[in-house]
Amino acid sequence: MDFDFSEENQALRALCREFTENEVSPHAAEWSETGHVPVDVYRKLGGLGLMGMLLPAEYGGAGATFVDYVTAMEEFGRGDQSFAAGWNAHSTIASLPLARFGTPEQKQRWLRPLAEGTHLGAFGLTEATAGSDAAGIRTTATRVGGGWVINGTKMFITNAGTEMSLGVTLLARTGSNPDGRARYGVFFVPDGTSGYSKGERLHKAGWRAMDTRELVFDGCVVPDDHLIGEEGAGLRQFLDVLDPGRISVAALSLSLAQAALEMAVAHAQEREQFGRPIADFQAIGHKLADMATETEAARWMVYRAAWLADTGRPFGQAAAMAKLYASEVANRVASASVQVHGGYGFMRESPISRFYADAKILEIGEGTNEIQRTVIARGLR
Ligand SMILES: Cc1cc2nc3c(=O)[nH]c(=O)nc-3n(C[C@H](O)[C@H](O)[C@H](O)COP(=O)(O)OP(=O)(O)OC[C@H]3O[C@@H](n4cnc5c(N)ncnc54)[C@H](O)[C@@H]3O)c2cc1C
Repeated sequence: MDFDFSEENQALRALCREFTENEVSPHAAEWSETGHVPVDVYRKLGGLGLMGMLLPAEYGGAGATFVDYVTAMEEFGRGDQSFAAGWNAHSTIASLPLARFGTPEQKQRWLRPLAEGTHLGAFGLTEATAGSDAAGIRTTATRVGGGWVINGTKMFITNAGTEMSLGVTLLARTGSNPDGRARYGVFFVPDGTSGYSKGERLHKAGWRAMDTRELVFDGCVVPDDHLIGEEGAGLRQFLDVLDPGRISVAALSLSLAQAALEMAVAHAQEREQFGRPIADFQAIGHKLADMATETEAARWMVYRAAWLADTGRPFGQAAAMAKLYASEVANRVASASVQVHGGYGFMRESPISRFYADAKILEIGEGTNEIQRTVIARGLR
């Protein structure tokens, strides 16, 4: 057993912390009010080589480990969850299908700009009538001479409508097997493709500054070489990138819990009632102790799932457990932190109010926690 982080990892943490303190934290409140993360922040991150952490060096990525990725997320998410959630979608579900299943030409064309951080990636699975039930999507891709015509609407898609969006990697039905079961394919649709349009930014309770939209495909034609991987294997390919995605959302959750804990500890020492800092009251001290203990337990579940992935072992079950536990800890710790802040914690000027609002989606996105429990229970049989 070795719980020490390597020197390289500690240097990475220091770099990400400095970036967060200079470029993210000071602006997070303003971004939340304006509902917009300026894309320059992602471009600067690209300049540091951190927009393609999990992507191969051959295509401009960093080829980093999952442990390093979790470390970076811990720092980014402490600054702002909208910024970190956009980075999460870009780094995992948007980029990994291309990295794992794309041809060398597709990687050169679309993965490189994502890895180098000149562009932002998006992934479109969810539809108005199909969220947890991924196989129930209705968007179709029909073969036409030399290409595919895509029809359908995707809902709640992250990163597709920014000034630096490259396009969207989406899942569509491509037909049916003789036994009637649907076939699926993954397609890359570049920005500007005729028949691809985007709705207005959606207004959210949390992750307010992150770009979220509906995407419409109406007779949208893409050439054959926009099919990513194998026709018919789309659903399996999608499920393949979900496990790393869960480690990423678990890490995002951990970062929120840590931020909420730190704010509570600081406030409890500053705020005085009855002539003493409220940290002196046992009720507050015990609350802080529970918050710290749960955050620490979540931390090691997340890092263990990352370590399993890095060492080439099965990690699906550990990733689901880490996502389930860390997201619920994030919600409990954020709620307890607001309680420690009292009425001030309920004011929009107070950063904890933003983290509190950001916490809920962690139990919903990237597979709801009901679905995580189903995955975990299935793995126990
Ligand atoms: C801000 C935001 C960003 C997002 N970004 C993206 C993105 O970039 N790309 C993308 O494709 N999607 C994205 N999503 C969609 C997200 O992944 C879905 O919201 C999520 O998967 C849940 O689907 P749903 O909202 O349709 O809920 P539903 O599937 O309708 O679920 C509703 C409730 O029913 C429960 N439920 C459903 N089925 C079962 C079952 N079998 N057993 C037990 N309980 C069940 C769920 O757990 C949940 O509590 C985003 C969503 C949000 C809010």
